[in-house]
Amino acid sequence: MSVMPAAFFGHGNPMNALEKNRYTEAWRAFGQAVPRPRAILVVSAHWYVHATAVTAMPRPRTIHDFFGFPRELFEVDYRPPGLPELYEEIADIVHPTWVGADLDSWGIDHGAWSVLMHAFPDADIPVAQLSINALKPFDYHLQLGAALAPLREDGVLLIGSGNVVHNLGGVSRALPDAGFDWAQRFDEGAKETMLTDPSAAGRLDGHRDYDLAVPTPDHFLPLLYVAGIAGATGTPADVLVDGYAYGSLSMTSYTVGMDAPAPMGSGFAAPLPEGPPADGANI
Ligand code: ZN
Repeated sequence: MSVMPAAFFGHGNPMNALEKNRYTEAWRAFGQAVPRPRAILVVSAHWYVHATAVTAMPRPRTIHDFFGFPRELFEVDYRPPGLPELYEEIADIVHPTWVGADLDSWGIDHGAWSVLMHAFPDADIPVAQLSINALKPFDYHLQLGAALAPLREDGVLLIGSGNVVHNLGGVSRALPDAGFDWAQRFDEGAKETMLTDPSAAGRLDGHRDYDLAVPTPDHFLPLLYVAGIAGATGTPADVLVDGYAYGSLSMTSYTVGMDAPAPMGSGFAAPLPEGPPADGANI
């Protein structure tokens, strides 16, 4: 079994699930380049709860955890199998950290399926999600990522899905393909850390632009799991694709342990829907 890489995908708004642009093409190129995993473990920004848990149901449901988007997005039915026994492997490997088995509350949320639909369109590889424990400090997430690193040798592909810069209150519809100065500074700071000293990613909260770039930590924290793996294995990250959307979102994606495929797509990130303010849309 090949040693799996790990990856962080900047997922942007859920309409990227249905579109084709330079980000979705980069996710697709990643899926085509990676050795076939035994299972995929996704740390999604959208499962941000007061516990650390792994989905352990045989047939996880597709979750549509947003509103204000077109009907076609609510009709997405990305239904890979689960892998219940992966829970036991994870519980053992991260011990003494406690991880719960989720049998009926979660499934596959849009942070996961909006990127997996491009990377693994056949939905035939088992998928589990690991929740983000909102009660824990940055070091906990970095260390949990590091503890999960040996799963790579057992065919498990870990994917973090969030956005390094994610300030929905600050979006500007006039800037569909650009980032504000502060967004660029923070994204570049994170990039320097990921490419040179990933285990220092837990100190990015000391960056001057952190408060604007990361007003809530849910979309940033998946990066720390990938940084934890990179740090634990002495493998700095590569940039898979980068860019900005609506001024206040960065779309940067990273790979760890695999040369990133050459960029092949073009086009902006998916447009925001008309209507209600984006900061009510849970993207
Ligand atoms: Zn999101």
